[in-house]
Amino acid sequence: MNHTPIAFIDLAAQQRRLGDSVHKAVLAVLAHGRYIMGPEVAELEQALADRAGVRHAVSCSSGTDALVLPLMAWGIGPGDAVVVPTFTFAASAEAVALLGATPVFADVLPDTFNIDPESVRGAVKNAREAGLRPRALMPVDLFGQPADVDAHRAIAQEEDLLVLADGAQSFGGSWQGWPVGSLGDATATSFFPAKPLGCYGDGGAVFTDDDELATVLRSIRTHGQGSDKYENVRVGINARIDTLQAAVLLQKLTVFDEELDQRQVVARRYAEGLGDVVTVPTVLPGAVSAWAQYTILVDDRESVVRRLGEQGVPTAVYYPRTLGSQPPYATNPAAPGGTPVADELTARVLSLPMHPYLDEVTQDRIMTAVRSAVRG
Ligand SMILES: *Cc1c(COP(=O)(O)O)cnc(C)c1O
Repeated sequence: MNHTPIAFIDLAAQQRRLGDSVHKAVLAVLAHGRYIMGPEVAELEQALADRAGVRHAVSCSSGTDALVLPLMAWGIGPGDAVVVPTFTFAASAEAVALLGATPVFADVLPDTFNIDPESVRGAVKNAREAGLRPRALMPVDLFGQPADVDAHRAIAQEEDLLVLADGAQSFGGSWQGWPVGSLGDATATSFFPAKPLGCYGDGGAVFTDDDELATVLRSIRTHGQGSDKYENVRVGINARIDTLQAAVLLQKLTVFDEELDQRQVVARRYAEGLGDVVTVPTVLPGAVSAWAQYTILVDDRESVVRRLGEQGVPTAVYYPRTLGSQPPYATNPAAPGGTPVADELTARVLSLPMHPYLDEVTQDRIMTAVRSAVRG
C-alpha cells in the first residue's frame, strides 16, 4: 500500500506550475523599491474589482483587517451589535469585539453550514432585548460557499442592518451568477496562503460599490489620511498590503480560474465517491463554491481521523468549538434556543485534503481510505 504523505494543501505544486513568473514579479519590486503602495497594489486592486464586478477593491493587510476596516468606516462601536455565525473562524467575531461592539451569535444551517436566517432574526431580537443597537449582519461564506444573500438582504432591509459579507474563504465563488465581492454592502476577503487565492504572507481586500465607503476605507487603511500624507481626518490604522504580496497575487490570478475549475473537479469526484458512506457538502442551486475546504460529516470522528492518519491522509477540523462557547464571547447574547446545529457540527465535521493539484490517483487513495475508515 502507498503510504507517501499527502499534502492537505499543496502550495509547492502551485509554485512549480507558476514557474519563473513569481520570481520575476518579486525581482521587479526589488528593482523599483516601492515596497509600500507600489504600482502593483493599484494594478491588483483593479484586477480584483474587475473580477468581482464591483467599483472598488481596497486591498489591505489581512482578512481580519478587511473585516475591521468597513466596521470602522461605518462607525460601529460600543453599544452596537453585529450578528455573526457562531460556527466560523475567530476573526469574524474578533473584528467586531476589537471595536468595542458586541458580536451576537446566530446558529447555522445543517446542510450548508452557513448562517441561518431564522436564527439571525432571533439574534437581532435578543440583541435589542440586551440593550444593544443591531447595526450589521456578517454572513460568512463557510468553506467557500456563498451564504444565501437573498435571505440576508431581506432581513437586513427589515431590520435596517448593513451587510458585511465575510468572504475570506469564498473569493472566486458566486451566488446566482453574482461573484463574491458583489454580495454585501461590503465584502471582506483574505489572501492568507491557504485560502483559494493566497499570497506568500498576509493580505486581504474589501469590495464595495459604495464610492463614499471606498474613500473612507482607503483613508482608514493609512492612518486616517486626508488630502495629503500628514493630514489625518479620522482615526485610522496601518492596514496596507505589501507591494511584494500584490506582485505575487497578480501572478497567482493568472491561473486562478483554472485552479477553481480543478477544485470543482475534485469536489465532484469526492461527492461521487463518498456520498454513500458519509455526509458530503450540500451546494445550493445557483451557488458556486470556491472550495476552500471540503468538509464531510462523520460519526466517531476521533477514530476516523486516526485511521486516516495511519493511511497517510491528513485531515483538519474546522471548527472544533463554536465561537460563542469560547471565553471572550461566552456571555454574549445569542439566538433564542442557542446554537444547537453548530454545537453538533463541531463534533462531526472533518475536512479532507482539497487543492487544485490533487491528482486522481491521490483522490482515489483518499476516498478508499475514508471508505475503510468510516466502516471501522
Ligand atoms: C481566514 C479567515 C479570516 C481572516 O483572514 P486572515 O487573512 O487570516 O486575517 C476571516 N474570516 C474567515 C471566515 C476566515 O476563514
